[in-house]
Amino acid sequence: MEHVVEKHRRDGLPATFDQVDLPALAAREGTPLYVYSAPALRQRVRALRQALSGLNAGIRYAVKANGNAAVLRLLAEEGAGADIVSAGELERALRAGIAAADIVFSGVGKSDAEIVLALEVGIGRFNIESRAELDSLQRIAAARGLMATAAVRINPDVDAQTHAKISTGKAENKFGVSIAEARGWFQARAQWPNVRLDGLHMHIGSQLLSLAPVREALARMAAFWKELEAAGHPIASIDVGGGLGVRYREGEQAPDAREYAAAIAQALAGFGGRILVEPGRWLVAEAGLLLSRVLLEKHGQERRFLVLDAAMNDLLRPTLYDAWHDIVRIDGGQASVRYDVVGPVCETGDTFATDRLLPPCAAGELVAILGAGAYAASMGSTYNSRPLPAEVLVDGDRYALVRRRQTLDELLAAELPATEWRRT
Ligand SMILES: *Cc1c(COP(=O)(O)O)cnc(C)c1O
Repeated sequence: MEHVVEKHRRDGLPATFDQVDLPALAAREGTPLYVYSAPALRQRVRALRQALSGLNAGIRYAVKANGNAAVLRLLAEEGAGADIVSAGELERALRAGIAAADIVFSGVGKSDAEIVLALEVGIGRFNIESRAELDSLQRIAAARGLMATAAVRINPDVDAQTHAKISTGKAENKFGVSIAEARGWFQARAQWPNVRLDGLHMHIGSQLLSLAPVREALARMAAFWKELEAAGHPIASIDVGGGLGVRYREGEQAPDAREYAAAIAQALAGFGGRILVEPGRWLVAEAGLLLSRVLLEKHGQERRFLVLDAAMNDLLRPTLYDAWHDIVRIDGGQASVRYDVVGPVCETGDTFATDRLLPPCAAGELVAILGAGAYAASMGSTYNSRPLPAEVLVDGDRYALVRRRQTLDELLAAELPATEWRRT
């Protein structure tokens, strides 16, 4: 399967993205600018649906990867439901036209207010991560005379072989509960009469480049599902989480959707219920880039810096995870200079790449940071009082502005001078 971004990478220059001229786009909409490709998004979601077509399976897109309303709507139109982790994401999913029944609610700390909202709109399933949360769900559902549907998030204690900050399926991680604890919940099911506890859930980590840990975790889940059914606890849904990795750099090989589906089919052979998958990154990462202009080139005492108008507040992954993103000069040229590519924020960690071989770049030059469709705009902040960047969706030779650049007025709007003093 060839991705739009991969194709551009192979052809050398991303001077166009789909058929939209990037320099012209930057001139019109300004930089830093997030650019997403609608065909690339469709290609991924269709490939996954196709791969899963032999199974009774549904996609629950992890909204946190990229919750932009237009991206979400596009994925919803392609049949994706949503995996949410907050009331804000619930609102996004509903506004994008996703049916409440196709929404699952994950996360280790759901507030009562969030549980109330999700119950009242009738979301499909709560993924429960602790006994305290199960008790809260029971209390809130009972008070409203409602029945909640829930899955237990199992922490299968496998090493997902990914960055420590995005590994979630080891016993020492905060996520999920052990099989032993979950077994106790099923045995005591009657204690939670307003909770239909009939599902299993897992999510072992993100940016998984090997399916081996997924297979190991699935095997543990399958054994537990069979044990539960034998003990008289019917299981209607197994949610295998997300985590599929993508190719951020040369030499990396993202798992193939068909292999992933085959691993699920093999592990869950004989399961008669609904299978859910919660991909985030795999659907959107490679469909996006961050377009940025070089502010200046600086010859430091020891290194050569390329200072961009994008910064860590726009794209945090390099700072947070030491993540690699390919960076390309839009006008092409022979890579001959080693730059530290940095942003203007007052942090040494505001570094997109170190010692990166690029064509010589002068002030005003456009560069694209690739693989910026996931955990990019959605992790943005206004640190250093930098407004959130604009986002556009391109489709063929057209583009739509799908998020206006934040204005300084908007950035400052909620703040108040301390003129009105109150007493509690
Ligand atoms: C973040 C998350 C996902 C998506 O992870 P990706 O690596 O982006 O596929 C899925 N499920 C849960 C519970 C998550 O927290």
